[in-house]
Amino acid sequence: MKVICILCDQAFKPDKRTEKKLRKHPHKIQLCPDCYQRITHQVIERQKKKGGASLPQTLSQTETNLHSND
Ligand SMILES: [Zn+2]
Repeated sequence: MKVICILCDQAFKPDKRTEKKLRKHPHKIQLCPDCYQRITHQVIERQKKKGGASLPQTLSQTETNLHSND
């Protein structure tokens, strides 16, 4: 059984677990291991950036609170 990756259009052989899933859900989008890893990495990076962006906001809020307490 071969699956076409939606990102790079390359055919790849899914592992047995993925193959089982595909039989149950044939319309599910499939990524080859390469693209899957790339996407996972991108998502993790994005989440890291998100967390980093919210941190300074929290810090500045704490700072404001400290000043108002003064
Ligand atoms: Zn791919």
